[in-house]
Amino acid sequence: MTLDRVRALIRDVPDFPQPGILFKDITPVMGDAAAFQTVLDALEERLRGRDFDRVVAIESRGFVFGAALADRLEIGFSPVRKLGKLPYKTHRIEYALEYGKGVLESHVDAVHPGEKVAVVDDLLATGGTAWGAAQLVEKQQAKVGAFLFVVELAFLKGRSRLEGLGGPVEALIAY
Ligand code: AMP
Repeated sequence: MTLDRVRALIRDVPDFPQPGILFKDITPVMGDAAAFQTVLDALEERLRGRDFDRVVAIESRGFVFGAALADRLEIGFSPVRKLGKLPYKTHRIEYALEYGKGVLESHVDAVHPGEKVAVVDDLLATGGTAWGAAQLVEKQQAKVGAFLFVVELAFLKGRSRLEGLGGPVEALIAY
């Protein structure tokens, strides 16, 4: 399957989770075996041979792609979650949401010093979430070697917040 076919499976849901937001629903991509494999093939291709030590992915749709990618690359997977979800000691970072602020957490021992990490999420919008994940990686004396997204809402210019934090910013499907 081509990425154009994958793109056609992404469903627009107007006014979710609040009025004025056009939500890109990627669950039909996850639900189609060929589409899911196409996405993973493309993500894997961007990291293959570049010696990554770990995938760090952002809850919750980021986990689906991030965990599968970590398995393909035979490297570890570490979750970044919203405040209050992780059970052990955490690092925290406040980050900008489209409206207001949020807090992301990572276990203090989730990433090891010196590691080269790929930050993975389903979608890049304003970039605040991925920026927060990158800060958490840096708090653990590791570095971001790449940011990887399935979808990018390019008109929101989120990549400008990520460029310069380490590694390229890659998205498979841009709007
Ligand atoms: P941002 O921090 O603005 O880049 O937002 C990215 C995070 O919010 C990702 O985890 C996305 O899953 C989610 N998100 C933001 N906007 C949308 C959207 N229009 N459709 C689907 N998910 C979105």
